[in-house]
Amino acid sequence: MSAPATDHLRKGWCPGALRPMETGDGLLVRLRLTGGILPAALALDLADAARRYGGGAFDLSARANLQIRGVTAETLPDLTERLSALGVLDDDAAGEAVRNVIASPLAGLDPAALLDIRPVVAALEHRLTTDTALHALPGKFGFAVEDGGAFPLGDLSVDLRFVAQPDGRFAILAGGRCEGPILGRCDAESVPETAAALARAFLALRGPHRRMEPLAKDAGLATIATAAGLGTPDGAVASPRPAASVPGNLHAGERPVLAVAATFGRWSSDAIAALAGLARDKGTGELRLTPWRCLLLPGVAMADAADTVAAHDLIVDPWDPRLSVAACAGAPACSSGEGPTRELALDLALEARLLAVSGTGLHVSGCPKGCAHPGASPVTIVARRGLYDLVIGGRAGDGTTREGLDRASVVAAVRSLAAEAARTPQERGRA
Ligand code: SF4
Repeated sequence: MSAPATDHLRKGWCPGALRPMETGDGLLVRLRLTGGILPAALALDLADAARRYGGGAFDLSARANLQIRGVTAETLPDLTERLSALGVLDDDAAGEAVRNVIASPLAGLDPAALLDIRPVVAALEHRLTTDTALHALPGKFGFAVEDGGAFPLGDLSVDLRFVAQPDGRFAILAGGRCEGPILGRCDAESVPETAAALARAFLALRGPHRRMEPLAKDAGLATIATAAGLGTPDGAVASPRPAASVPGNLHAGERPVLAVAATFGRWSSDAIAALAGLARDKGTGELRLTPWRCLLLPGVAMADAADTVAAHDLIVDPWDPRLSVAACAGAPACSSGEGPTRELALDLALEARLLAVSGTGLHVSGCPKGCAHPGASPVTIVARRGLYDLVIGGRAGDGTTREGLDRASVVAAVRSLAAEAARTPQERGRA
């Protein structure tokens, strides 16, 4: 085990367990659990560790990583020792930083899957951590491995994507889209070697680019494939497979799968422990992490979980208005935050639902960076020097429509926009 690299602590660092990141509410320790698989016993141990050494809360990241918040410089050594004993630490921070692999969340449990990708994911992670030439990859460079089953990942912020095909091979896509022309194909045993060759090609060709998608646009797929020794690209993944990204009572074949969300993806230690108990007593003994910030409990039915859901204010209704708002931690939890965000977002959750039938209707951001929702929303509120700016139909960093509103004014403005959105075409015509 390596000691945590506290000499690397600085704001904005892509964090890990060995390289925590400073935030407004303490250090953030990110755990990359292979395949997003969280055994119930480990979840109980982590919940206890987060209570003892952190602020008693977790985030589930958009890359299906579990993040312990509120750790201090004093508690970090004890937390690190505990995590090491639990076997969730890498040997070094450089290897940990490139071990960015997202997998189909029910890998190995989904009867509709074309193959069990768990060994593929483990082998890819091993290659990334042990091949030091790959440690030069940018911090956000990521991989996805999909099993072709009933729980597709949809579009993702990754750089290389391996999608299982009916012939038992993998189609390789550059960037985050779940469809489009492919870089090439490889069999399951070759995924680590092929991923390494493509990553090396990226490093050789990248120029100013830090992600594969812009490089693919600039250089073309053929150049990248040839540099990686894959030959001329041929074919496409033609059928888009959007993610089944809402909570609720799902199924994998005959087996129930409860998908649970938490408000803003923030989970208390007590909620994680309670869900771990359910997974152990009623399910398969595992929780699965998803990049759409739901936890999956294979084998657990809604009826088994009703008391736990109510006790911890969790979300299992796909129409819950809280799913329509995105908000980062904002001030004071994030030191870059220029105003509070989450309470305001919750106050406007019903309006957010009116602003978008599905997806995010309202995004409240603590600053123009827009961490909680990089895309556009019908309405975005951006805190600035304690007041709020309004962006209509854009992203947090886009041009504002109204500026310098106080809280009451921004609430009134959003309510008015939501009321307008809720009017029928006939009502609009009569006005
Ligand atoms: S968007 Fe939010 S979380 Fe991201 S830096 Fe700004 S205030 Fe912090």
